[in-house]
Amino acid sequence: MKGLKLILPDWDDIVDANYDFVNEKHSEGYLKGRYMHGARIWDLLGDEVIDGVLISISAIKRDKMKKILGAGGARNFLRLPGKMQLIGDCGAWQYRDKDAPPYRVDEVMDYYSRLGVDYGVTLDHIPFFGNPQERMELTFRNAVEMYKLWRSGNYKFTLMASVQGIEVNHYVKFMDKLYNVGYRHFAIGGLAKRNTDFIKALVSALTEYVRGRSDVEKVHFLGVTRLSIIPMLSELLNHVNEVSFDSSAMLRMAWTREVGNYLTTNGKAYTAIRVIGDNHDVLNALRLYDKGVLSLEEVIAILRNYLTKVGQVHYLPYYEALLRDTPWKKCSCAICRTVGIDVVIFRGNDRNRRRGFHNVYVFKRLLESGKDIRFINVKVNHSINGDEAASDELTTLLKKASRVLIITNCTDEKNVNWNAVLNLLRSRGLKVPSFDIELEDTYREVLRRFMKPAGEMYGGSFRAVRNLAKAFRRLGKQVDVYVISARYGLISEREVILPYNATLKGLDIDAIRNWSKRLGLERRLMELVGKPYDVIIVALPREYAIAMGYALRRLLNMDNAILILPKSIIEDVKDIKAKVMLAGGLTARLKYIKRLTKALNSTGVTLDRWLL
Ligand SMILES: [Zn+2]
Repeated sequence: MKGLKLILPDWDDIVDANYDFVNEKHSEGYLKGRYMHGARIWDLLGDEVIDGVLISISAIKRDKMKKILGAGGARNFLRLPGKMQLIGDCGAWQYRDKDAPPYRVDEVMDYYSRLGVDYGVTLDHIPFFGNPQERMELTFRNAVEMYKLWRSGNYKFTLMASVQGIEVNHYVKFMDKLYNVGYRHFAIGGLAKRNTDFIKALVSALTEYVRGRSDVEKVHFLGVTRLSIIPMLSELLNHVNEVSFDSSAMLRMAWTREVGNYLTTNGKAYTAIRVIGDNHDVLNALRLYDKGVLSLEEVIAILRNYLTKVGQVHYLPYYEALLRDTPWKKCSCAICRTVGIDVVIFRGNDRNRRRGFHNVYVFKRLLESGKDIRFINVKVNHSINGDEAASDELTTLLKKASRVLIITNCTDEKNVNWNAVLNLLRSRGLKVPSFDIELEDTYREVLRRFMKPAGEMYGGSFRAVRNLAKAFRRLGKQVDVYVISARYGLISEREVILPYNATLKGLDIDAIRNWSKRLGLERRLMELVGKPYDVIIVALPREYAIAMGYALRRLLNMDNAILILPKSIIEDVKDIKAKVMLAGGLTARLKYIKRLTKALNSTGVTLDRWLL
């Protein structure tokens, strides 16, 4: 079946095939030398787990290069299965800060020959650093020279042209120039930091370009870091013989991601259990659970004790879901079948890298199935044998918090004698203060006796927020209340303000963004939510939520945030960590604010069922 080919960069991902997990000891062979005696992903998972390996010249240290050349090339050195392809590149990321690449083109050609690669990428320089135009021209000149050498020499590898650009149209023009030189194999670079829209546009433009050129043989995407963009690359498959990409994201996530670091083919991401130090009793308990000697309740009790001791009890809902579902028992990969529960224990190279190999296996299966590549973190909502029988995760979070931040919107209703205010303003020839913050000093002089702290000025729905803050304070918690004010931007409830008449309601998105920019709202919010609050509660209508900009993204990613927001605001957001209560209008928003208050004021109130 024709599909995207997955290439794994070679970064010495090696484990000990005969590692003793019980005594945590390496085998003698491995200790003699991991390059020779260690196991790579294909040694454990077979020759279909990936489609090839990318080896970068700049990443090979002198010692390793000697060993590779001594073995008669990288294929022998890696013991790479015959059906896997070997791609060589220069590893331009390593020398991105240098004025020029540290190699000559003939040197690179020589390296590729001696390494024995199947494809060699031309000597390139990443245009995001230094002078983009110069770097793109240099990359092109190198490609022209290397093509001449390649045509006149007797090289066994295929030369693949590096295509670089800043904008989408640069890539297409660059590719066209290279095509006219004679290239039919292309390696697209500079994708690491691109967003989804850019990748979509780029793939469409490249597809359009190759549509009429049926002799284009291969398009490779270099250094793909975000898994979600990978399915987009397959658009090219209809017009090109072979489309490949290299990525180590799914491998490295096994130990770089805090939660959701063990993937399954049904789109779930479980969290491996961290066991630190010499807590061998915990490791034993996990193994006994795997063998069916301990029950789920028993192993959770042991785990809870351990996590409390090391201050990591917040992982328990993730671990409990993992132990409840036992996904490693359902995986068909040779690693899960042989090492069992150790693959989901976060501890040391031999467990963590094996979990990474398993993730690559799962990823490849999904890629072949053509299904959506998306993983949802799994955790339980209700912990078994928890301390507080009547409280759930959200109420526990509220009750345990000692520093609380509440962010809400300004309200139409102000606690002020409007008749008196209007008369006074009229007598001075002034209108009601609204968005005209530039006249603040004038107004302050005139309306001095009507000014009061924001927390007292706002009426209407703000009353519910005030009651929530009160409930927290009664429990001895420190609460900061901030208001997004249409006149002032972000203000503390303690700030003394004028009565005014302004709202973001009804403004269009551009107007809201301009307003937000003018008042520096996003930056101020980012500072505020970055402070060490235990809980952050945000209750906002649509327009005010939009005004938060990136700060809202940040909040959606915080597991101590409780967000009461309309559905339309978060519709296209993935991987939400915050606790979200969907509230389309004022009534629903008030309902949830009151529920939070009630949960604080009485026992036995649960909240999790109201979460998204
Ligand atoms: Zn597995």
